[in-house]
Amino acid sequence: MVNDMSGKPRLDNERDDEWRNRLSRLAYKVTRQGATERPFSGDLYTEDRDGNYHCVCCDHLLFTSEMKYDSGCGWPSFHTEHPDAGIVRLEDASHGMIRVEVRCQSCDAHLGHVFNDGPRENGGERYCINSVCLTFAESDE
Ligand SMILES: [Zn+2]
Repeated sequence: MVNDMSGKPRLDNERDDEWRNRLSRLAYKVTRQGATERPFSGDLYTEDRDGNYHCVCCDHLLFTSEMKYDSGCGWPSFHTEHPDAGIVRLEDASHGMIRVEVRCQSCDAHLGHVFNDGPRENGGERYCINSVCLTFAESDE
């Protein structure tokens, strides 16, 4: 489902100070202002250990390593979101393209976009996610 509410992430004044202080400048710009990190620059692009991927702003669980695959696009790519993630989709008409923006349902952080060129055996979607929007927690096993 795509909502018709594109635009900048809304400002949450109470939490904004905390994010400004805690996040890197780049992570703040991407999650709160909708910027995009440079391709092939993110630490988690080549991460292939078993574990979970959480929102860098609010620690909400978004993806697991089983959902990650190597798309070659330069950003961490996932074919599926965690069943409890509830990632929000918004139409994004910026940069002369119609794309589907994805945001954290818990804190409204911009995460990236979702495209329809993912692996067909996994549903055909590609969540193209900025590495700085994620924290990785390796699983113990
Ligand atoms: Zn979040």
